[in-house]
Amino acid sequence: MFLPVVVEPNPMLHKRGRDLTKAEVSTPAIKKLIKNMIETMYIKDGVGIAAPQVNESLQVCIIAKQFSPLQNNEDLALINPTWTKISLKTNWDTEGCLSVPFVYGEVKRYSKIKVKALNRHGEEIEFEASDFPARIVQHEVDHLNGILFIEKARNLKKIDPLQKEL
Ligand code: ZN
Repeated sequence: MFLPVVVEPNPMLHKRGRDLTKAEVSTPAIKKLIKNMIETMYIKDGVGIAAPQVNESLQVCIIAKQFSPLQNNEDLALINPTWTKISLKTNWDTEGCLSVPFVYGEVKRYSKIKVKALNRHGEEIEFEASDFPARIVQHEVDHLNGILFIEKARNLKKIDPLQKEL
């Protein structure tokens, strides 16, 4: 089921989502939320999505399977995710966001990180991510902490949605 996407300005996008308990992860409500977030992400042509973007203040985000560091052909659901840098290397690249339509800007992110989270079965997972997948994780974890990319971006540009089609 498609969920309406919360668009800036909205206080939901600026508060930290609540952690889930392990037991809570496999409840029907959370399973349904994950399924609906994945559907919404693809309908909106996103590569990731975070629960506050669908009006749920919870520590849940999705990374599209195309960019999943696990490379298991499954959209990656991360519950209570945290990351640490494993290299000082950073890079700037352009980002956009479903909650800030038609706005793009360059954001500096760590190039290589280690991620800890619970998976959709409530199991603890740990993995490394680099480059674009690492960027997506950092963008989504920012959402879960109430931070939008526009707060860190340089050269923000608003594009004409019609122009984008050309
Ligand atoms: Zn976003």
